Amino acid sequence: MFSYRHAFHAGNHADVLKHAILVHTLDYFNRKDAPYWVIDTHAGAGLYSLDSDWAAKTSEFADGIGRLWERDDLPPLLADYVARIRAFNTNGRLKRYPGSPWLTLDALRPSDRLRLFEMHPTEIDTLVGNLEHMDRTAQRQTTIYGDDGFEGVKALLPPPTRRGMVLIDPSYEDKNDYRRTLITVKECVKRFATGTIAVWYPLVQRREASEMARHFENLKVKSWLHATLTVKKATIDGYGLHGSGMFLINPPWTLHDALKQTMPYLARELGQDERASFTLQYRENPFPVPKKQSD
Ligand code: SAM
Repeated sequence: MFSYRHAFHAGNHADVLKHAILVHTLDYFNRKDAPYWVIDTHAGAGLYSLDSDWAAKTSEFADGIGRLWERDDLPPLLADYVARIRAFNTNGRLKRYPGSPWLTLDALRPSDRLRLFEMHPTEIDTLVGNLEHMDRTAQRQTTIYGDDGFEGVKALLPPPTRRGMVLIDPSYEDKNDYRRTLITVKECVKRFATGTIAVWYPLVQRREASEMARHFENLKVKSWLHATLTVKKATIDGYGLHGSGMFLINPPWTLHDALKQTMPYLARELGQDERASFTLQYRENPFPVPKKQSD
């Protein structure tokens, strides 16, 4: 079984990138009344205590959300994200960090639905326990599956509302996760071409990682956005996460402009050495269908 536990990493620079984009995307969905579904294929425990032994051991959050917590000059996308994290820390001290399921529940309206997959036996127990503390609306709108998210998501697509988002956020402990993520993205596009598909991945010195990103950019989809944040130079032994990427298919049209303001700020403020940098690409209609010539 896997050893990855997200509690060691909650609130780090990778979570900041992923969750700030998640919050913006859900806010965008909420602009319309029509209900939507969020399917989180790799949910984790849902909610993390930053003064737990685990989080304290690595203190990764200190170089992630910790660096943004007191700032009063945040670009709007980050200000919205930090405001959400503040809602989980009502006394103003950064003690709790919501994972993707809890950030999603915070955004959903009663008619929206959340579907969560988590396979780690301890994580799923914590996730179920956390949900039991939520109100009835949250419990009614959420279903937790102790199954493989790569496989399970297929049966849920397209969602009955025909509006929604799939978040694919594996730990990539197993190098097969890169191949499985790509296959799953293709399945999602086939079954739910109008849906927003968001994938997080680590920037690591692995052929599988760079190949996966290259394949994403060649997918025949209506639009995509690709953002990467590097916070420090890669170590030779590959230990420690030096950066991560988010790839979105059918992103909110507002996201690219919002990230143009955000990414330079993130690279500057979360950067740990001179290698800190970002990339940001957006393509609309990358493969337009050629118009028929009339003769
Ligand atoms: N999405 C979470 C967040 O942003 O708060 C973090 C998820 S963490 C990076 C990845 C999780 O996926 C781990 O809790 C791990 O136990 C779980 N996992 C690993 N393989 C899985 C699979 N095939 N299906 C579902 N969950 C899996």
